[in-house]
Amino acid sequence: MNKITRRAFLCGSAATAAVAIGQAGKARAQSSLTQSPVIRVAQSQQVLNLYSARHYDTDTALYDSFTARTGIRVNLIEAEADALIERIKSEGANSPADVLITVDAGRLWRAEQDGLFQPINSQAISQAVPANLRHPDGLWVGLSKRARVIMYDKTKVNPAELSTYEALADEKWRGQILVRSSSHVYNQSLVGSLLQATDANRTEAWARGVVANFARQPEGNDTAQIKACAAGVGSIAIVNTYYLPRLAKSEDPAERAVAEKIGVFFPNQRDRGTHVNISGGGVLKTAPNREAAVQFLEHLVSRESQAVFARSNNEYPVVEGVELDSVLASYGRFRDDAVNASIFGRNNPEALQIMDRAGWQ
Ligand code: FE
Repeated sequence: MNKITRRAFLCGSAATAAVAIGQAGKARAQSSLTQSPVIRVAQSQQVLNLYSARHYDTDTALYDSFTARTGIRVNLIEAEADALIERIKSEGANSPADVLITVDAGRLWRAEQDGLFQPINSQAISQAVPANLRHPDGLWVGLSKRARVIMYDKTKVNPAELSTYEALADEKWRGQILVRSSSHVYNQSLVGSLLQATDANRTEAWARGVVANFARQPEGNDTAQIKACAAGVGSIAIVNTYYLPRLAKSEDPAERAVAEKIGVFFPNQRDRGTHVNISGGGVLKTAPNREAAVQFLEHLVSRESQAVFARSNNEYPVVEGVELDSVLASYGRFRDDAVNASIFGRNNPEALQIMDRAGWQ
């Protein structure tokens, strides 16, 4: 796959020195180098290899601040999650990867099933991140949160008509529901959360009801569902929160007009709360630089990093009290389902079978 790109980020003291050497002020840089040659060499050799399925340029600011703080360079390998997992597996004991970051607890579970992670064991992380957003044995940690919500056409649906995910199976919504395919992990995790909250029979009956209410056969990603909703193909879309701020902030006026038409409803506020998922990361079992890997994850859950990390994709921080993106904040506060995110992975195979049987393509 040619999608894999490699970037090395040099900054902080090591980069400052490198830049300074290339410039006219050689004398000063030389003198600082000669003052502590051992430290300079040690710093230039410390590298953290990050395999990430997040593709946001703003994340690079966080790698820079990590380097500035620790002197450790971040070498980034970017690709889709499944490609990264396959790559780590094929690299085996010789893998240079220290940290794997991906989105959706269902995908972290796949890496966990392949035995790729080792426990993190960090007090700083356990204190900063709520227990339900961390693996029970510390194999991965949530770094940002997204809610899978009900979005609706404000001209057609009164939010007072909405209540729970369960109620979307009601025949009142015949021909109205837009949602992406069951092959996508976001829906598998949502169904996994319903399995946890109810049982297999009720979840299957629910899935059949939702399929009967589809406005069309599933196609496209979450953005496509929002656009179809605004275009009148259906009146309700099941999507992740961050897709709407993306449209609201778009440079394309047509996309901003789409966002204007759409309302956000947080389901199940009177019972277990709205289904939330995470993007998260873990330290690889074969990490050559384990200590730096833990330090890096600690850096990402610091208050300063959280504001940047979550905002780069219009997500919710995992650390309480960190300011939200203003568009995201305008959708209001909500209570999230406090089930441990590791459950979504555990329930994944059954969720998939249920969606198959229900005819959710
Ligand atoms: Fe997404």
